Formats: sequence, C-alpha cells, structure tokens
Amino acid sequence: MYKRYTSYLVGAFFLLVSCSKDIYVDSCHYEHYSTKIDSSKSTNKVLIIGIDGFRSDAMTEQISPKIHSLFTQNNTYNNLEHKTEEDTYSGPNWSSILTGVHLNKHNVIDNTFEGGNFIKYPSFFKYIEEHVPELNTASFVNWGPINKNVLSKEVDYAQDLENDSLVFQKSIELLENTNPFDVDIFFIHFDELDAAGHNFGFSKNINEYTETITKLDYYVEKLYDIISNKRKTGENWLFIVVSDHGGDGTGHGDYDNIHIRNTIFLIEHPDTFFKNNHTSNMTDIAPTILSFIGIQSAEFSCKKDGISLIKQYSTTNNQQKR
Ligand SMILES: [Zn+2]
Repeated sequence: MYKRYTSYLVGAFFLLVSCSKDIYVDSCHYEHYSTKIDSSKSTNKVLIIGIDGFRSDAMTEQISPKIHSLFTQNNTYNNLEHKTEEDTYSGPNWSSILTGVHLNKHNVIDNTFEGGNFIKYPSFFKYIEEHVPELNTASFVNWGPINKNVLSKEVDYAQDLENDSLVFQKSIELLENTNPFDVDIFFIHFDELDAAGHNFGFSKNINEYTETITKLDYYVEKLYDIISNKRKTGENWLFIVVSDHGGDGTGHGDYDNIHIRNTIFLIEHPDTFFKNNHTSNMTDIAPTILSFIGIQSAEFSCKKDGISLIKQYSTTNNQQKR
C-alpha cells in the first residue's frame, strides 16, 4: 500500500515535470513569428575554429604564441574560463556551441548523440540556410559525429576528414581556391588535442599535449593570415576559436574539476566591441554568429539560452573599408 502510494506520488511528480517542460517548449510558437534580415550584414562571413579538449592553463605565450597574441588584442572577446555544459563530454558541448541551447533542450548527454533533438533545436546553420540561402556554408571535421548527427544535413558542404592535417589542408584549399565555392560561414573541427590528452595527459607539462597545441596554433595562425588578407579585399570576417572542454589526467568527465569545466574561447573582429563583462558559455556562440550576419529570428530568440556577445557593431568603419 505504502509502496503503491509512493509510486503514485513519483508518477505525479514526473507528470508535473514533463507537463511544465512541455508548457515551456510550447511557449515558442515560432510559426507565428517572423524573421528580420538586416541585408547590410548578409554579406558578412564567419570562420569558427573548433579545437577539441583545450585546457585553459595550457594556453600560454610559449605553447601557443598566435592564440596568446590574439587573446591580448583589444578588439576581441576572450575568455579562459569559458564554461562547458555540466556534462563535460564532447557531444553535449559541440551541440550547445552549434545550437545555442543547453543540453536540457538539445538532449545530447554523451558522445552517441542518442535522443538529440535537432529538429526542435537546430544549429545556427539551419537558420542561415533557411533565411539567407545564398550564403555558402561548410563544415570540415576530424570527429565524424558532429557532421553525422548535426551538420551534414544543414550545411552546403560537409567533409569528414581523417586527421587534423587534412582538416587544415582542405580548409586552406576551400578558403584560398574557393573550390567548390567561395565559403561564407565555415566551421572547422580539430580533434588531435583531445586524443593527445586521452593518451598522454591533458597538461601543460606533457610534451605530447603541448606539442599538439603548438601545431594547432600554427594552423590557427595560417588560417588567421588568410582571413586577414580577405579582410584587406573588403570581406568582413568574424574570427572565432573555441574548445569544448579542458581535461585533467587522461580524462574530462568531472564538471567539478576547474581544469575540465573551463576552456578557451576567442572572438576577433577589427572594429566590433564585445561584451567583455559577460562570462561566456557554450550557448553564446550561435546567437553571436546569427547577430553578426544580421539574422533576427523570433524562433531562435525564443529558444536560445545564450546571448550575442556583440556590444556594438561598427558599420561606418566597415563601409569605409569597402
Ligand atoms: Zn575527449
């Protein structure tokens, strides 16, 4: 009797929880909402460089000189205490980076992506393709599940590549040779730092880990040089470097460990002011990107958890450059 009463109570509790969750989700009646496009921003471009497993205290001048120098620039948002999701696996965190919502919404709780709700909470690429389809979008990754589960149906050109060197080479080719197209919004993912962490240890005292950072730092430098040159021809690029989690020992499962839950995040643009007082988390990246390219979607605004980190966007400078 007691047992039955308890299970009734438990059942009622879950009913209540699921009801309130449904009410919350249903409050976004996006089909009635409109989307405003700021056409003066529709030709803007974004490069997002994802580096898997970058522990913040390993981002030093000695180990990663280029990224370090970008972190000291004024025209950046930068944060070495960029917060992971409470679930510190890669799956949930890349999902939050791409969708702008926390894991209680996108529902990815591990690296299987099972149960992921990308229909209701699509990536920022989906909003771009829906509202400004003429933009060319691409995703090159060395961790297949990102494309397989999230991006392959949402970008114009998705490539799964076998190692970071290939990701780098193919990215250079796409950016420089514009083959098969002149890319506008480009997501790149490097995975070998995470592998070095799992095999040898996530630490600035482990050579295999720091040497991998230094190699990736060189990739970032070359990619940044290409973006700099494109800016000189009048193209208006936002440059982003982000990681999904840090690490300690040879793992990254414990959110209570500061070396795991804090990671690196950088946005750079020649003449944009950023909200540097705000402590960023994974859900701030998608709103920032959509804001930069002038897509104001009421659907996204209702669903998103993060904020745009752009404080003031200087259009005057931009027009002068063109
Ligand atoms: Zn990992």
